[in-house]
Amino acid sequence: MELVLLGVRGSTPAPGPDYVRYGGHTSCVAVIPTGEATPTLLMDAGTGIRSLPSLLGSGPFRGSILLSHLHWDHVEGLPFCRAVDRDDARVDLHVPEQDGVSARDLLARTMSPPSFPIEPEGLLGRWRFLPAPERPVSIEGFEVTAVEINHKGGRALGYRVASAAGSFAYLPDHAPSRGMAPSVRNLIEGVDVLLHDAQFTETERRLADDYGHATVEETVALAGEAGVGRLVLFHHSPVRTDDQLDHILDGVDPPVPTVVAREGMRLPVGVAHDGAAQPALLT
Ligand SMILES: [Zn+2]
Ligand SMILES: [Zn+2]
Repeated sequence: MELVLLGVRGSTPAPGPDYVRYGGHTSCVAVIPTGEATPTLLMDAGTGIRSLPSLLGSGPFRGSILLSHLHWDHVEGLPFCRAVDRDDARVDLHVPEQDGVSARDLLARTMSPPSFPIEPEGLLGRWRFLPAPERPVSIEGFEVTAVEINHKGGRALGYRVASAAGSFAYLPDHAPSRGMAPSVRNLIEGVDVLLHDAQFTETERRLADDYGHATVEETVALAGEAGVGRLVLFHHSPVRTDDQLDHILDGVDPPVPTVVAREGMRLPVGVAHDGAAQPALLT
């Protein structure tokens, strides 16, 4: 399978000339199954989802979206993507349930007047609003496992997605310093690719703790402990410029091959991870 990073920022989009090379869209990752040309699974629906039509040609999206949590930067692109908002689209949206509220109603808390012009039912196509899986299930042919992880403000999930081709884990917002259950360690153990929160650095430890995020240094250590094939530093701070991201690993010695997420990056999953294969850039 292949991952295409459509949005790699956290918190807010980051427009402007200092954010061109790594991109300014918030979290969204498209998953293309082995042997297919187009994605059938999306991780989150930040503003990066607006670029989804570039992977689909003129066609609609037909597949599933797994939300890690409901913070704005992970859902705000949803009603602004033509590929999912058209009559011939089919979308299963999986939402982390909480507070005894249905998936649809959780989404409607921010997606309804007066916060937004339409309610979830206003999206065109065939939509289903579903709870995120509580146990390993098959979604779009992938084996999906979701585990609750520590973040801040509401329930957040980390995901492991596997197929015969390989596996990846997706934890865009995660505060390992608040504690990690064995189930979280199992989730990331030995995956081919780990996309993980790297919003802050150790020099910004107080901010990381205040907002419930990880630092680059602890993410790198975590990836080493888990023996992942490749680490992708993800969910960059919206004030981290291109030049700063170029040097984000200075003084850090990652024990596994590590790349800094960049919008448009394509990452093969389940091929040799000897560090030689460089991810290609989407043109
Ligand atoms: Zn976030
Ligand atoms: Zn968050």
